[in-house]
Order: sequence, then structure tokens, then C-alpha cells
Amino acid sequence: MKPIVYVTRTIPEVALVLLKQYCEVVYRDEVPPPKKEDILKNVVNVDAIYCTLNEKIDKEVMDASPRLKVIGTMSVGVDHIDVEYATSRGIYIVHTPGVLTETTADLAFALMLASARRIVECDRMIREGKWKLAWAPTMMLGYDVHGKKLGIIGLGRIGVAVAKRAKGFNMKVYYYDVTRRRELENELGIEYMELSQLLKESDFISIHVPLTSETRHLISEKELRMMKSTAILINTSRGPVVDEKALVKALKEGWIAGAGLDVFEYEPLPPDSPLVNLPNVVLTPHIGSASYDTRNRMAQYAAEGIIKILRGEEPDNLYNRDVVKIRALHSVKMI
Ligand code: NAD
Repeated sequence: MKPIVYVTRTIPEVALVLLKQYCEVVYRDEVPPPKKEDILKNVVNVDAIYCTLNEKIDKEVMDASPRLKVIGTMSVGVDHIDVEYATSRGIYIVHTPGVLTETTADLAFALMLASARRIVECDRMIREGKWKLAWAPTMMLGYDVHGKKLGIIGLGRIGVAVAKRAKGFNMKVYYYDVTRRRELENELGIEYMELSQLLKESDFISIHVPLTSETRHLISEKELRMMKSTAILINTSRGPVVDEKALVKALKEGWIAGAGLDVFEYEPLPPDSPLVNLPNVVLTPHIGSASYDTRNRMAQYAAEGIIKILRGEEPDNLYNRDVVKIRALHSVKMI
């Protein structure tokens, strides 16, 4: 009998074709994410769940799924999954590291350029018929990006890709990370700094940490007040890494000059969010990895990871590597 995989919502065809070769697929072919009760109903007899970052795969879901062996998520971030509980239950988690790195770094850079050079404001001005003077010495002035100082918070895969782009813009690059990456400092010509110093020094700050209990509100009022009044904050990581209320205050009161945001504390961003009315913010709807090629690659990589686990192989996109030890230790009790 083929193992059963529940696919929570519409995914690129390439992944579906792959999954169908090895599994019986319970496919919810709908674009919006499912309600919790739908998930609970559908996971009862499955060996695998194929999900996205919008589905909370918590203890309740895993407990409703006694045979569950693997959760595959079409995202690199795993903050929507109770990793600790999955690991304790011997459930593998596979995700999509690497394949979305360059695409997300492109977006971080696009937000940096768009915020600094007021591209969205300019576009709006023209469309609203407000472009009255052909050219004026003081019209729509913004900030240079080239030659400025960029502070990267979280020098992982995406952080490194952003640093490489910044070098092409002749920027001075600082980084802060829980792990110092000395080998990369020479290779990329970048400098390690404590967070508070990086906040004070940088003209642009780009966040690339995962969302964890340590990074929730890593950038809050205290940190925003340390930044230059001309600085621009870019967040393409996860919304709750930045205290959004404090950010709104910072943008309104001019503690910082602007922000480029792809992620928010609540998504979709409520239409009455004060961010919507601020001219000095560029907003995108969580599209960091949203290119045709990358979404196909992510979909395929998550499917490949699930299939490998179901065939008893160890995939290179296994997130909770400790699960291997846990399963070995408790092999009798594990499902
Ligand atoms: P990664 O694991 O390669 O890098 C994360 C880095 O953050 C690591 O170097 C890690 O040491 C560092 N870090 C962890 N906790 C920290 C802390 N408390 N303080 C400082 N540094 C810390 O991950 P990645 O592939 O570069 O992705 C980063 C995050 O970006 C993902 O977890 C995901 O949430 C987010 N992301 C968002 C989008 C999007 O669509 N906007 C797309 C891809 C990834």
C-alpha cells in the first residue's frame, strides 16, 4: 500500500506529480489555507503532511495524526510548526533551505532601493496626476544606497546573499549574528558588530533571522531609538521579529527615515493598519520567494524531502536532525 500524504492547499504541479508517483495524495486543491478543523479531519490516517507557512502544525494536529511520520513545509521558516513536539514524537520535518535564498535577497534589495529612492511614492504621485513640474532641484529627494553602510541582522543563507549584493553597490557591510562567521568576514569583506553598535552605525538595516522565542521583537522601541534618523529598516524575515507598534511610532515621529516590509505581525496586514497610511514605508505582501522558478523549486524540494523520508532515506533538507537520534533511542515506542 502506498503511504498517504495530505496536501493542505494548491501547490505547483511539479510537486503534485512527484508525490503521486510514490504516495496516495489527499489533495485540497484550494488557494486559501484550510481551517484548523479541516486540517484535524484530514490528518487522521496520513503518513505525511505537505503544508505551507500559513498552517499551524501544532501538538493538536500531530496528536490527531497517530501515523504521522513527516511534515514537509514549502518554506524555509518552520515557526508555524511545533518543532520540539514533532521531534519528541519522532516526526521528521523537511523544509526548503537554499532554493529561495537568492530570490528573497533580491526582494530585500528591491525594498531597500524602493524605500531609499521613494519609488512607490513617485509612482503614486504620477498616477494621481500630481506630477506638475517636469523637474525640480528638490523634487522627491531620497537617500543613496551605493557607498552607504548596511547592517545585516542574521548572517545565514539569505543574509550572505544580501551582503554579496551590497558589495556590488560598494556598501560597507556590518553583520550581527548569534554565531560569528569569521571565515566569511575576510571572504566577503564584512565586519562583525554587536547589535547595538550595528544599529547605531548603519544607514540600512536588513533582517534575516528566523522567528524564534529569542528573535520575537528583537527590534523594539529601544533598538529603533538607537538607529539613525536617516536610517531605513528592511524586514523580509518574519513580522513578529519587529515590534510593529513601535515601528509605526518610529516612522511617524521620525526616529528613522523609512522602512521596507515584506512581513508583518498579522498577515494579511489589516487594511486599517497605521502602516498603510505612512508615506515612508514600502509594503509587499510576503512575496520574498515569489518568483515562478523559485516557487516551483520550493514545491519540488519539499515533495522530494517527504518522499525520501517515506522511503527510509535521509534527505538533505531535514530540519530537525535530532529526530534521527530520538527515533534510534526510542525505536520500540516510535511509530
Ligand atoms: P538561515 O538559518 O540560513 O539564517 C538565519 C541566521 O540567523 C543564522 O545565521 C542564525 O545564526 C541567525 N540567528 C538565529 N537566531 C538569531 C538571534 N537570536 N540573533 C541573531 N542571529 C540569529 O536562514 P535563511 O535561509 O537565511 O532564512 C532566514 C529567515 O528568512 C527564515 O527563517 C524565514 O523566516 C525568512 N524568510 C522569509 C521569506 C519571505 O518570503 N519573506 C523567504 C525566505 C525566508
